[in-house]
Amino acid sequence: MRKRAQEKINLRKLILLLCVFSVVVTLFNSFYSIYRVQRELIISNTIESNRVYAEKMAEMTDAFIESAMSQLEYSAQYLSTKMDDDTALTTEVDRLRAQTNSFNSVVVVGADGVIVSISPENLRIKGVKLKSERSLQSLKAQRPLITDPFVSPAGNYLTSLSYPIFSADGEYLGYIGGTIYLEKKNILTTLLGQHGYKDGSYLYVVDRHRTLIYHPDKNRIGQVIVTNKAINAVIEGEHGGQDIVNALGIDMLAGYAPVHGSGWGVVAQKPKALTLTLLDEQMWKVFWESIPIGMLTLLLIWISAIYISRPLWQLASAVKAFDNHASTIEELKAIKPWYFEASHLKSSFLKAFNIVSSTIDKLHSDSMTDAMTGLLNRRGLEKAVENLREHNVPFSLLALDIDYFKKVNDTFGHNAGDELLREVAQLMKVQARDLDIVCRSGGEEFMIFLANTDVSQAFEVAERIRKSMETHNFAVVSSITISIGVSHWAGQPESIESVMKEADKALYKAKENGRNRTELGA
Ligand code: GH3
Ligand code: MG
Ligand code: MG
Repeated sequence: MRKRAQEKINLRKLILLLCVFSVVVTLFNSFYSIYRVQRELIISNTIESNRVYAEKMAEMTDAFIESAMSQLEYSAQYLSTKMDDDTALTTEVDRLRAQTNSFNSVVVVGADGVIVSISPENLRIKGVKLKSERSLQSLKAQRPLITDPFVSPAGNYLTSLSYPIFSADGEYLGYIGGTIYLEKKNILTTLLGQHGYKDGSYLYVVDRHRTLIYHPDKNRIGQVIVTNKAINAVIEGEHGGQDIVNALGIDMLAGYAPVHGSGWGVVAQKPKALTLTLLDEQMWKVFWESIPIGMLTLLLIWISAIYISRPLWQLASAVKAFDNHASTIEELKAIKPWYFEASHLKSSFLKAFNIVSSTIDKLHSDSMTDAMTGLLNRRGLEKAVENLREHNVPFSLLALDIDYFKKVNDTFGHNAGDELLREVAQLMKVQARDLDIVCRSGGEEFMIFLANTDVSQAFEVAERIRKSMETHNFAVVSSITISIGVSHWAGQPESIESVMKEADKALYKAKENGRNRTELGA
Protein backbone atom coordinates (compact mmCIF):
# COMPACT_ATOMS: atom_id res chain seq x y z
CA MET A 1 0.00 0.00 0.00
CA ARG A 2 2.67 2.35 1.15
CA LYS A 3 4.89 1.65 -1.83
CA ARG A 4 2.02 2.36 -4.19
CA ALA A 5 1.32 5.65 -2.48
CA GLN A 6 4.95 6.65 -3.02
CA GLU A 7 4.76 5.86 -6.69
CA LYS A 8 1.85 8.26 -7.21
CA ILE A 9 2.51 11.56 -8.90
CA ASN A 10 3.06 14.41 -6.44
CA LEU A 11 1.34 17.78 -6.21
CA ARG A 12 4.37 19.74 -7.43
CA LYS A 13 4.53 17.75 -10.65
CA LEU A 14 0.77 18.06 -11.05
CA ILE A 15 0.85 21.85 -10.70
CA LEU A 16 3.82 21.99 -13.03
CA LEU A 17 2.16 19.77 -15.62
CA LEU A 18 -1.09 21.71 -15.41
CA CYS A 19 0.66 25.06 -15.80
CA VAL A 20 2.92 23.89 -18.62
CA PHE A 21 -0.10 22.42 -20.36
CA SER A 22 -2.11 25.65 -20.08
CA VAL A 23 0.87 27.80 -21.09
CA VAL A 24 1.50 25.63 -24.15
CA VAL A 25 -2.18 25.59 -25.13
CA THR A 26 -2.50 29.36 -24.67
CA LEU A 27 0.70 30.06 -26.60
CA PHE A 28 -0.25 27.70 -29.38
CA ASN A 29 -3.72 29.20 -29.55
CA SER A 30 -2.47 32.79 -29.71
CA PHE A 31 0.21 31.86 -32.24
CA TYR A 32 -2.38 30.15 -34.35
CA SER A 33 -4.87 33.03 -34.21
CA ILE A 34 -2.15 35.57 -34.97
CA TYR A 35 -1.06 33.39 -37.87
CA ARG A 36 -4.62 33.09 -39.22
CA VAL A 37 -5.35 36.80 -38.92
CA GLN A 38 -2.01 37.82 -40.44
CA ARG A 39 -2.43 35.32 -43.22
CA GLU A 40 -5.85 36.64 -44.19
CA LEU A 41 -4.53 40.18 -43.98
CA ILE A 42 -1.49 39.50 -46.14
CA ILE A 43 -3.56 37.62 -48.71
CA SER A 44 -6.17 40.36 -49.00
CA ASN A 45 -3.50 43.08 -49.06
CA THR A 46 -1.56 41.30 -51.78
CA ILE A 47 -4.69 40.76 -53.88
CA GLU A 48 -5.65 44.39 -53.39
CA SER A 49 -2.24 45.76 -54.35
CA ASN A 50 -2.20 43.50 -57.42
CA ARG A 51 -5.66 44.75 -58.36
CA VAL A 52 -4.57 48.39 -58.06
CA TYR A 53 -1.43 47.66 -60.08
CA ALA A 54 -3.37 45.84 -62.82
CA GLU A 55 -5.84 48.72 -62.91
CA LYS A 56 -3.05 51.23 -63.40
CA MET A 57 -1.39 49.19 -66.14
CA ALA A 58 -4.73 48.68 -67.92
CA GLU A 59 -5.35 52.44 -67.86
CA MET A 60 -1.88 53.08 -69.32
CA THR A 61 -2.42 50.48 -72.04
CA ASP A 62 -5.79 51.99 -72.82
CA ALA A 63 -4.26 55.46 -73.09
CA PHE A 64 -1.57 54.12 -75.42
CA ILE A 65 -4.11 52.43 -77.68
CA GLU A 66 -6.21 55.57 -77.81
CA SER A 67 -3.27 57.78 -78.77
CA ALA A 68 -1.92 55.20 -81.26
CA MET A 69 -5.34 55.01 -82.91
CA SER A 70 -5.61 58.78 -83.23
CA GLN A 71 -2.15 58.88 -84.83
CA LEU A 72 -3.19 56.16 -87.28
CA GLU A 73 -6.39 58.10 -87.96
CA TYR A 74 -4.38 61.20 -88.74
CA SER A 75 -2.14 59.28 -91.17
CA ALA A 76 -5.13 57.54 -92.75
CA GLN A 77 -6.71 60.87 -93.56
CA TYR A 78 -3.44 62.27 -94.80
CA LEU A 79 -2.88 59.28 -97.11
CA SER A 80 -6.46 59.20 -98.49
CA THR A 81 -5.32 61.32 -101.45
CA LYS A 82 -1.81 59.86 -101.76
CA MET A 83 -2.31 56.12 -102.15
CA ASP A 84 -0.53 56.28 -105.50
CA ASP A 85 2.30 58.44 -104.27
CA ASP A 86 5.02 56.02 -103.27
CA THR A 87 7.29 58.65 -101.78
CA ALA A 88 4.50 60.15 -99.68
CA LEU A 89 3.58 56.65 -98.45
CA THR A 90 7.17 55.81 -97.54
CA THR A 91 7.69 59.14 -95.80
CA GLU A 92 4.47 58.75 -93.82
CA VAL A 93 5.10 55.15 -92.63
CA ASP A 94 8.68 56.03 -91.70
CA ARG A 95 7.56 59.16 -89.86
CA LEU A 96 4.86 57.29 -87.99
CA ARG A 97 7.21 54.50 -86.93
CA ALA A 98 10.11 56.75 -85.99
CA GLN A 99 8.16 59.59 -84.38
CA THR A 100 5.77 57.70 -82.17
CA ASN A 101 8.05 54.81 -81.28
CA SER A 102 4.84 52.88 -80.59
CA PHE A 103 5.09 50.33 -83.36
CA ASN A 104 7.66 47.79 -84.39
CA SER A 105 6.60 48.33 -87.97
CA VAL A 106 4.11 50.46 -89.88
CA VAL A 107 2.41 49.19 -93.01
CA VAL A 108 -0.01 50.47 -95.64
CA VAL A 109 -2.10 47.76 -97.28
CA GLY A 110 -4.17 48.34 -100.38
CA ALA A 111 -7.85 47.29 -100.65
CA ASP A 112 -6.67 44.20 -102.59
CA GLY A 113 -4.50 43.02 -99.66
CA VAL A 114 -1.17 43.93 -101.24
CA ILE A 115 1.38 45.66 -99.01
CA VAL A 116 2.01 49.00 -100.73
CA SER A 117 4.41 50.50 -98.20
CA ILE A 118 6.29 49.30 -95.14
CA SER A 119 8.66 50.67 -92.56
CA PRO A 120 11.26 49.51 -91.85
CA GLU A 121 11.98 48.74 -95.46
CA ASN A 122 14.39 45.95 -94.68
CA LEU A 123 11.42 43.67 -94.04
CA ARG A 124 11.29 43.29 -97.81
CA ILE A 125 7.63 42.36 -98.04
CA LYS A 126 6.50 45.33 -100.09
CA GLY A 127 4.26 44.04 -102.88
CA VAL A 128 3.42 40.85 -100.97
CA LYS A 129 -0.26 39.95 -100.87
CA LEU A 130 -1.71 39.09 -97.45
CA LYS A 131 -3.33 35.67 -97.36
CA SER A 132 -3.91 34.31 -93.85
CA GLU A 133 -7.33 34.80 -92.41
CA ARG A 134 -6.17 36.81 -89.45
CA SER A 135 -3.97 39.10 -91.55
CA LEU A 136 -7.07 39.92 -93.58
CA GLN A 137 -9.16 40.92 -90.51
CA SER A 138 -8.52 44.66 -91.01
CA LEU A 139 -9.50 44.51 -94.69
CA LYS A 140 -12.71 42.71 -93.89
CA ALA A 141 -13.64 45.04 -91.04
CA GLN A 142 -12.98 48.32 -92.89
CA ARG A 143 -13.02 50.08 -89.53
CA PRO A 144 -10.49 50.84 -86.80
CA LEU A 145 -9.38 47.46 -85.40
CA ILE A 146 -6.95 45.72 -83.14
CA THR A 147 -6.33 42.35 -84.75
CA ASP A 148 -5.93 39.00 -83.11
CA PRO A 149 -2.28 37.91 -83.03
CA PHE A 150 -0.98 36.33 -86.24
CA VAL A 151 2.28 35.58 -87.99
CA SER A 152 3.15 38.23 -90.57
CA PRO A 153 4.60 37.46 -94.05
CA ALA A 154 7.98 38.54 -92.61
CA GLY A 155 7.63 35.87 -89.90
CA ASN A 156 6.88 38.05 -86.88
CA TYR A 157 4.22 37.06 -84.35
CA LEU A 158 2.31 40.27 -83.98
CA THR A 159 -0.87 42.12 -83.31
CA SER A 160 -1.76 45.08 -85.45
CA LEU A 161 -3.64 48.34 -84.81
CA SER A 162 -5.20 49.42 -88.06
CA TYR A 163 -7.18 52.36 -89.38
CA PRO A 164 -9.10 52.28 -92.68
CA ILE A 165 -8.27 54.68 -95.49
CA PHE A 166 -11.21 56.04 -97.44
CA SER A 167 -11.14 58.38 -100.44
CA ALA A 168 -12.95 61.69 -100.34
CA ASP A 169 -15.98 60.08 -101.99
CA GLY A 170 -16.06 57.19 -99.46
CA GLU A 171 -14.33 54.48 -101.47
CA TYR A 172 -12.36 51.98 -99.40
CA LEU A 173 -8.68 52.23 -100.34
CA GLY A 174 -7.08 50.00 -97.74
CA TYR A 175 -5.66 50.64 -94.31
CA ILE A 176 -2.66 51.83 -92.38
CA GLY A 177 -1.51 49.50 -89.64
CA GLY A 178 0.97 49.73 -86.77
CA THR A 179 2.27 46.42 -85.49
CA ILE A 180 3.41 45.20 -82.11
CA TYR A 181 5.86 42.29 -82.30
CA LEU A 182 4.66 40.27 -79.38
CA GLU A 183 7.81 38.19 -79.01
CA LYS A 184 10.27 41.10 -79.28
CA LYS A 185 10.90 44.29 -77.39
CA ASN A 186 7.76 46.30 -78.04
CA ILE A 187 5.62 49.13 -76.72
CA LEU A 188 3.93 46.79 -74.22
CA THR A 189 7.23 45.66 -72.71
CA THR A 190 8.22 49.31 -72.48
CA LEU A 191 4.91 50.40 -71.00
CA LEU A 192 4.35 47.53 -68.63
CA GLY A 193 8.02 47.41 -67.70
CA GLN A 194 10.06 44.48 -66.64
CA HIS A 195 7.94 43.78 -63.63
CA GLY A 196 10.59 41.80 -61.78
CA TYR A 197 10.53 38.25 -60.57
CA LYS A 198 12.32 39.46 -57.45
CA ASP A 199 9.41 39.13 -55.04
CA GLY A 200 7.81 36.56 -57.29
CA SER A 201 5.13 38.88 -58.59
CA TYR A 202 4.59 39.59 -62.31
CA LEU A 203 2.11 40.88 -64.81
CA TYR A 204 0.67 39.54 -68.06
CA VAL A 205 -1.83 40.62 -70.69
CA VAL A 206 -4.35 38.48 -72.56
CA ASP A 207 -6.36 39.41 -75.61
CA ARG A 208 -10.10 38.87 -75.86
CA HIS A 209 -9.57 35.25 -76.97
CA ARG A 210 -7.49 34.41 -73.85
CA THR A 211 -4.24 34.47 -75.82
CA LEU A 212 -1.22 35.64 -73.85
CA ILE A 213 0.04 38.70 -75.70
CA TYR A 214 2.37 39.92 -73.00
CA HIS A 215 4.14 37.74 -70.42
CA PRO A 216 7.58 38.05 -68.77
CA ASP A 217 8.22 34.48 -69.86
CA LYS A 218 8.48 34.92 -73.66
CA ASN A 219 7.91 31.22 -74.26
CA ARG A 220 4.38 31.58 -73.04
CA ILE A 221 3.37 34.32 -75.45
CA GLY A 222 0.75 33.05 -77.90
CA GLN A 223 -0.57 30.40 -75.47
CA VAL A 224 -4.33 30.28 -75.03
CA ILE A 225 -5.29 29.94 -71.38
CA VAL A 226 -8.73 28.45 -70.76
CA THR A 227 -8.63 27.37 -67.10
CA ASN A 228 -7.66 30.57 -65.33
CA LYS A 229 -10.42 32.19 -63.26
CA ALA A 230 -8.76 35.62 -63.33
CA ILE A 231 -8.67 35.53 -67.13
CA ASN A 232 -12.29 34.35 -67.24
CA ALA A 233 -13.28 37.35 -65.18
CA VAL A 234 -11.13 39.98 -66.90
CA ILE A 235 -12.20 39.15 -70.44
CA GLU A 236 -15.78 39.52 -69.23
CA GLY A 237 -14.77 43.09 -68.40
CA GLU A 238 -14.61 42.57 -64.63
CA HIS A 239 -12.24 44.39 -62.27
CA GLY A 240 -11.14 42.69 -59.07
CA GLY A 241 -8.91 40.14 -57.46
CA GLN A 242 -8.95 36.58 -56.17
CA ASP A 243 -7.07 33.62 -54.93
CA ILE A 244 -6.67 31.45 -58.05
CA VAL A 245 -4.86 28.44 -59.41
CA ASN A 246 -3.03 29.34 -62.61
CA ALA A 247 -2.58 27.29 -65.79
CA LEU A 248 0.57 25.70 -64.33
CA GLY A 249 -1.32 24.61 -61.18
CA ILE A 250 0.30 27.21 -58.95
CA ASP A 251 -1.76 28.96 -56.28
CA MET A 252 -1.69 32.68 -57.11
CA LEU A 253 -2.98 35.89 -55.57
CA ALA A 254 -4.21 37.77 -58.61
CA GLY A 255 -5.59 41.24 -59.29
CA TYR A 256 -7.00 42.09 -62.73
CA ALA A 257 -8.45 44.89 -64.83
CA PRO A 258 -9.75 45.04 -68.43
CA VAL A 259 -8.34 47.29 -71.17
CA HIS A 260 -11.61 48.61 -72.59
CA GLY A 261 -10.31 49.94 -75.87
CA SER A 262 -8.97 46.56 -76.97
CA GLY A 263 -10.91 43.91 -75.04
CA TRP A 264 -7.61 42.86 -73.48
CA GLY A 265 -7.12 42.04 -69.83
CA VAL A 266 -4.21 42.83 -67.50
CA VAL A 267 -3.49 40.40 -64.66
CA ALA A 268 -0.94 41.10 -61.88
CA GLN A 269 -0.19 38.16 -59.63
CA LYS A 270 2.11 36.74 -57.02
CA PRO A 271 2.51 33.10 -55.91
CA LYS A 272 0.63 32.54 -52.65
CA ALA A 273 3.37 30.34 -51.22
CA LEU A 274 5.97 33.06 -51.75
CA THR A 275 3.72 35.64 -50.12
CA LEU A 276 3.24 33.42 -47.09
CA THR A 277 6.94 32.56 -46.77
CA LEU A 278 7.45 35.98 -45.29
CA LEU A 279 4.71 35.34 -42.77
CA ASP A 280 6.29 32.02 -41.80
CA GLU A 281 9.60 33.78 -41.25
CA GLN A 282 7.87 36.39 -39.12
CA MET A 283 6.07 33.78 -37.08
CA TRP A 284 9.34 31.97 -36.41
CA LYS A 285 10.89 35.24 -35.35
CA VAL A 286 8.01 35.89 -32.95
CA PHE A 287 8.37 32.35 -31.65
CA TRP A 288 12.10 32.66 -30.98
CA GLU A 289 11.65 36.06 -29.41
CA SER A 290 8.98 34.75 -27.07
CA ILE A 291 11.21 31.94 -25.83
CA PRO A 292 13.11 33.89 -23.10
CA ILE A 293 9.88 35.18 -21.54
CA GLY A 294 8.38 31.71 -21.94
CA MET A 295 11.33 30.14 -20.13
CA LEU A 296 11.14 32.76 -17.40
CA THR A 297 7.43 32.05 -16.99
CA LEU A 298 8.13 28.33 -16.72
CA LEU A 299 10.81 29.02 -14.12
CA LEU A 300 8.39 31.14 -12.09
CA ILE A 301 5.76 28.44 -12.40
CA TRP A 302 8.26 25.86 -11.25
CA ILE A 303 9.26 27.95 -8.21
CA SER A 304 5.60 28.64 -7.40
CA ALA A 305 4.82 24.94 -7.71
CA ILE A 306 7.55 24.21 -5.16
CA TYR A 307 6.25 26.88 -2.78
CA ILE A 308 2.64 25.82 -3.10
CA SER A 309 3.29 22.13 -2.75
CA ARG A 310 5.97 22.34 -0.04
CA PRO A 311 3.71 22.59 3.07
CA LEU A 312 1.48 19.77 1.81
CA TRP A 313 4.49 17.69 0.88
CA GLN A 314 6.00 18.28 4.33
CA LEU A 315 2.70 17.38 6.01
CA ALA A 316 2.44 14.24 3.91
CA SER A 317 5.97 13.06 4.62
CA ALA A 318 5.61 13.87 8.35
CA VAL A 319 2.48 11.76 8.74
CA LYS A 320 3.86 9.01 6.52
CA ALA A 321 6.32 8.05 9.28
CA PHE A 322 3.38 7.19 11.46
CA ASP A 323 5.15 4.70 13.79
CA ASN A 324 6.79 7.21 16.07
CA HIS A 325 4.07 9.66 16.96
CA ALA A 326 6.25 11.76 19.27
CA SER A 327 8.70 12.66 16.49
CA THR A 328 5.81 13.00 14.02
CA ILE A 329 4.27 15.64 16.30
CA GLU A 330 7.60 17.45 16.53
CA GLU A 331 7.96 17.33 12.74
CA LEU A 332 4.43 18.64 12.27
CA LYS A 333 5.06 21.52 14.67
CA ALA A 334 8.16 22.56 12.69
CA ILE A 335 6.18 22.95 9.43
CA LYS A 336 5.24 26.54 8.61
CA PRO A 337 2.28 26.48 6.25
CA TRP A 338 1.61 29.84 4.55
CA TYR A 339 -1.90 29.30 3.24
CA PHE A 340 -5.28 28.40 4.65
CA GLU A 341 -5.68 24.76 3.64
CA ALA A 342 -2.19 23.66 4.65
CA SER A 343 -2.47 25.54 7.93
CA HIS A 344 -5.77 23.83 8.75
CA LEU A 345 -4.41 20.45 7.76
CA LYS A 346 -1.48 21.03 10.06
CA SER A 347 -3.62 21.88 13.07
CA SER A 348 -6.00 19.00 12.32
CA PHE A 349 -3.11 16.57 12.01
CA LEU A 350 -1.64 17.86 15.26
CA LYS A 351 -4.97 17.44 17.04
CA ALA A 352 -5.39 13.94 15.66
CA PHE A 353 -1.86 12.91 16.52
CA ASN A 354 -2.16 14.31 20.04
CA ILE A 355 -5.33 12.28 20.55
CA VAL A 356 -3.66 9.15 19.18
CA SER A 357 -0.61 9.83 21.28
CA SER A 358 -2.50 10.24 24.55
CA THR A 359 -4.66 7.22 23.73
CA ILE A 360 -1.58 5.13 23.17
CA ASP A 361 -0.05 6.49 26.40
CA LYS A 362 -3.19 5.56 28.27
CA LEU A 363 -3.26 2.07 26.77
CA HIS A 364 0.37 1.74 27.69
CA SER A 365 -0.21 2.73 31.31
CA ASP A 366 -3.36 0.59 31.47
CA SER A 367 -1.30 -2.44 30.53
CA MET A 368 0.91 -1.79 33.54
CA THR A 369 -1.90 -1.05 35.98
CA ASP A 370 -4.01 -3.42 38.00
CA ALA A 371 -7.58 -2.64 37.06
CA MET A 372 -9.07 -3.46 40.46
CA THR A 373 -6.77 -1.50 42.75
CA GLY A 374 -5.20 1.06 40.41
CA LEU A 375 -1.72 -0.01 41.63
CA LEU A 376 1.05 -1.23 39.31
CA ASN A 377 0.47 -4.85 38.24
CA ARG A 378 3.12 -7.54 37.77
CA ARG A 379 4.19 -5.99 34.41
CA GLY A 380 4.42 -2.54 35.94
CA LEU A 381 6.44 -3.99 38.78
CA GLU A 382 8.91 -5.58 36.37
CA LYS A 383 9.22 -2.31 34.51
CA ALA A 384 9.89 -0.46 37.79
CA VAL A 385 12.54 -3.02 38.76
CA GLU A 386 14.09 -2.68 35.32
CA ASN A 387 14.23 1.07 35.74
CA LEU A 388 15.89 0.88 39.19
CA ARG A 389 18.41 -1.65 37.91
CA GLU A 390 19.20 0.40 34.84
CA HIS A 391 19.85 3.55 36.84
CA ASN A 392 21.47 1.54 39.70
CA VAL A 393 19.26 3.20 42.31
CA PRO A 394 19.61 1.49 45.72
CA PHE A 395 16.28 0.71 47.34
CA SER A 396 14.54 -1.09 50.15
CA LEU A 397 11.72 -3.51 49.40
CA LEU A 398 8.61 -4.25 51.46
CA ALA A 399 6.65 -7.46 50.78
CA LEU A 400 3.17 -7.21 52.30
CA ASP A 401 0.47 -9.89 52.76
CA ILE A 402 -2.96 -9.63 54.36
CA ASP A 403 -3.35 -11.95 57.35
CA TYR A 404 -6.05 -14.60 57.13
CA PHE A 405 -7.51 -13.16 54.02
CA LYS A 406 -9.11 -16.46 53.11
CA LYS A 407 -11.38 -16.02 56.07
CA VAL A 408 -12.65 -12.73 54.67
CA ASN A 409 -13.60 -14.45 51.47
CA ASP A 410 -15.12 -17.34 53.29
CA THR A 411 -17.10 -15.20 55.69
CA PHE A 412 -18.19 -12.24 53.55
CA GLY A 413 -17.87 -13.55 50.02
CA HIS A 414 -15.45 -12.95 47.15
CA ASN A 415 -16.87 -9.52 46.30
CA ALA A 416 -16.37 -8.32 49.82
CA GLY A 417 -12.80 -9.66 49.57
CA ASP A 418 -12.29 -7.59 46.42
CA GLU A 419 -13.69 -4.51 48.10
CA LEU A 420 -11.31 -5.01 50.99
CA LEU A 421 -8.39 -5.37 48.58
CA ARG A 422 -9.31 -2.00 47.06
CA GLU A 423 -9.49 -0.36 50.48
CA VAL A 424 -6.14 -1.83 51.51
CA ALA A 425 -4.53 -0.64 48.29
CA GLN A 426 -5.95 2.84 48.78
CA LEU A 427 -4.65 3.03 52.30
CA MET A 428 -1.22 1.77 51.17
CA LYS A 429 -1.02 4.51 48.58
CA VAL A 430 -1.93 7.13 51.14
CA GLN A 431 0.62 5.85 53.63
CA ALA A 432 3.46 5.46 51.13
CA ARG A 433 5.57 8.47 50.12
CA ASP A 434 5.04 10.11 46.72
CA LEU A 435 8.15 8.58 45.18
CA ASP A 436 7.54 5.10 46.54
CA ILE A 437 6.43 2.50 43.99
CA VAL A 438 3.43 0.51 45.19
CA CYS A 439 2.52 -2.73 43.32
CA ARG A 440 0.00 -5.51 43.65
CA SER A 441 2.31 -8.47 43.16
CA GLY A 442 -0.33 -11.20 43.57
CA GLY A 443 -3.86 -11.94 44.88
CA GLU A 444 -3.67 -10.24 48.29
CA GLU A 445 0.08 -9.66 48.24
CA PHE A 446 1.76 -6.29 47.63
CA MET A 447 5.27 -4.90 47.19
CA ILE A 448 6.56 -1.40 47.84
CA PHE A 449 9.89 -0.18 46.43
CA LEU A 450 11.47 2.61 48.48
CA ALA A 451 14.21 4.24 46.37
CA ASN A 452 17.31 5.58 48.14
CA THR A 453 15.99 4.29 51.46
CA ASP A 454 18.09 2.30 53.93
CA VAL A 455 16.75 -0.67 55.90
CA SER A 456 16.02 1.19 59.12
CA GLN A 457 14.05 3.91 57.34
CA ALA A 458 12.26 1.18 55.42
CA PHE A 459 11.42 -0.57 58.62
CA GLU A 460 9.86 2.64 59.90
CA VAL A 461 7.76 3.04 56.77
CA ALA A 462 6.70 -0.62 57.05
CA GLU A 463 5.65 -0.20 60.60
CA ARG A 464 3.74 2.95 59.84
CA ILE A 465 1.81 1.15 57.12
CA ARG A 466 1.24 -1.93 59.24
CA LYS A 467 -0.09 0.17 62.11
CA SER A 468 -2.33 2.22 59.88
CA MET A 469 -3.91 -1.04 58.63
CA GLU A 470 -4.32 -2.36 62.11
CA THR A 471 -6.08 0.77 63.26
CA HIS A 472 -8.11 1.48 60.15
CA ASN A 473 -11.81 0.86 60.23
CA PHE A 474 -12.57 -0.93 56.94
CA ALA A 475 -16.03 -0.87 55.45
CA VAL A 476 -16.47 -4.62 54.97
CA VAL A 477 -14.57 -6.10 57.87
CA SER A 478 -14.04 -3.74 60.73
CA SER A 479 -10.34 -4.59 61.13
CA ILE A 480 -7.55 -6.56 59.48
CA THR A 481 -3.83 -6.89 59.97
CA ILE A 482 -0.94 -7.34 57.56
CA SER A 483 2.52 -8.89 57.80
CA ILE A 484 5.57 -7.29 56.14
CA GLY A 485 9.02 -8.54 55.13
CA VAL A 486 11.80 -6.02 54.43
CA SER A 487 14.96 -6.44 52.34
CA HIS A 488 17.52 -4.08 50.72
CA TRP A 489 19.29 -3.75 47.38
CA ALA A 490 22.56 -1.84 47.58
CA GLY A 491 23.02 -1.65 43.82
CA GLN A 492 24.91 -3.63 41.20
CA PRO A 493 26.04 -6.37 40.92
CA GLU A 494 23.62 -7.77 43.52
CA SER A 495 20.66 -9.61 42.00
CA ILE A 496 17.32 -7.90 42.51
CA GLU A 497 15.55 -11.28 42.20
CA SER A 498 17.40 -12.56 45.26
CA VAL A 499 16.48 -9.36 47.15
CA MET A 500 12.82 -9.99 46.26
CA LYS A 501 13.09 -13.59 47.48
CA GLU A 502 14.65 -12.30 50.68
CA ALA A 503 11.70 -9.97 51.28
CA ASP A 504 9.38 -12.95 50.73
CA LYS A 505 11.39 -14.96 53.21
CA ALA A 506 11.19 -12.14 55.79
CA LEU A 507 7.41 -11.99 55.19
CA TYR A 508 7.16 -15.73 55.76
CA LYS A 509 9.12 -15.19 58.99
CA ALA A 510 6.64 -12.48 60.06
CA LYS A 511 3.76 -14.95 59.49
CA GLU A 512 5.69 -17.59 61.40
CA ASN A 513 6.28 -15.23 64.23
CA GLY A 514 2.60 -14.56 64.76
CA ARG A 515 1.53 -12.17 61.94
CA ASN A 516 0.73 -8.42 62.19
CA ARG A 517 4.43 -7.67 62.36
CA THR A 518 7.45 -6.57 60.31
CA GLU A 519 10.54 -8.72 59.87
CA LEU A 520 13.89 -7.75 58.32
CA GLY A 521 15.51 -9.97 55.76
CA ALA A 522 18.99 -11.42 56.25
P1 GH3 B 1 -2.11 -15.99 55.81
O1 GH3 B 1 -2.31 -15.19 57.02
O2 GH3 B 1 -1.25 -17.15 56.05
O3 GH3 B 1 -1.70 -15.17 54.67
O4 GH3 B 1 -3.52 -16.57 55.53
P2 GH3 B 1 -4.43 -16.31 54.33
O5 GH3 B 1 -5.79 -16.75 54.53
O6 GH3 B 1 -4.32 -14.89 53.82
O7 GH3 B 1 -3.74 -17.31 53.31
P3 GH3 B 1 -3.25 -17.12 51.83
O8 GH3 B 1 -2.42 -15.93 51.76
O9 GH3 B 1 -2.57 -18.41 51.47
O10 GH3 B 1 -4.54 -16.98 51.03
C1 GH3 B 1 -4.87 -15.98 50.15
C2 GH3 B 1 -6.27 -16.08 49.70
O11 GH3 B 1 -6.69 -14.87 49.10
C3 GH3 B 1 -6.50 -17.16 48.71
C4 GH3 B 1 -7.53 -16.59 47.73
O12 GH3 B 1 -8.77 -17.21 47.86
C5 GH3 B 1 -7.68 -15.18 48.16
N1 GH3 B 1 -7.55 -14.35 47.06
C6 GH3 B 1 -6.49 -14.23 46.23
N2 GH3 B 1 -6.71 -13.26 45.29
C7 GH3 B 1 -7.97 -12.79 45.55
C8 GH3 B 1 -8.77 -11.80 44.96
O13 GH3 B 1 -8.39 -11.16 43.99
N3 GH3 B 1 -9.98 -11.52 45.49
C9 GH3 B 1 -10.44 -12.21 46.57
N4 GH3 B 1 -11.69 -11.90 47.05
N5 GH3 B 1 -9.72 -13.17 47.11
C10 GH3 B 1 -8.49 -13.44 46.66
MG1 MG C 1 -1.01 -14.70 50.52
MG1 MG D 1 -2.59 -13.81 53.32
